[in-house]
Amino acid sequence: MYTVINLPYPYNALEPIIDTKTVNIHYNKHHKKYLENLNKLTNYKMPLEEIPKKISEFPLKDRGEILYNAGGILNHNIYWQSLNSTPSLPHGKLLSKINQTYGNFNNFKNEFINKAKTLVGSGYTFLVTDNNGNLSIINMNNQETPLSYNYIPLFTIDLWEHAYYLKYKNDRNAYIENIWNKTNFNHASTIYESLF
Ligand code: MN
Repeated sequence: MYTVINLPYPYNALEPIIDTKTVNIHYNKHHKKYLENLNKLTNYKMPLEEIPKKISEFPLKDRGEILYNAGGILNHNIYWQSLNSTPSLPHGKLLSKINQTYGNFNNFKNEFINKAKTLVGSGYTFLVTDNNGNLSIINMNNQETPLSYNYIPLFTIDLWEHAYYLKYKNDRNAYIENIWNKTNFNHASTIYESLF
């Protein structure tokens, strides 16, 4: 059986930026639905992170659904860890690389926000690293995962309507801007530090 991460904080931890009800439904109904689907499609065969690169080991007829649901689990795992009740900034090697790549954290943040605003339809904006430690900000559609493109996801914002619609309705841009009051770079910093 595959599993999802436990939500790292209470449902109300992201108030008032992301409301309690949205977090509850998003985690328990949306995130866990991808898990339920994946476990129906396949018995545990390999670690979740390996599925995107080894998708050809699954039956051809199931590959699309397996990849979609595995991506749904992986992407939400990163999303929840990209948030916290109190915001935190990148540190260590990740901070150095952000400063080197974007000038400073504020420039990085603005570039991320601008990228997120250009996403068409449902998906995510990611901060990713390649295998050499080079950073990029990329958009992924639906439940695509950066792992399929040889990038390692560090930080993400979920841009599906279910992530913000109860509170922000059609104003996705307000969600994209306000969420920086709850962004957490501890997880991203730890991953990056462990790799490079
Ligand atoms: Mn979602």
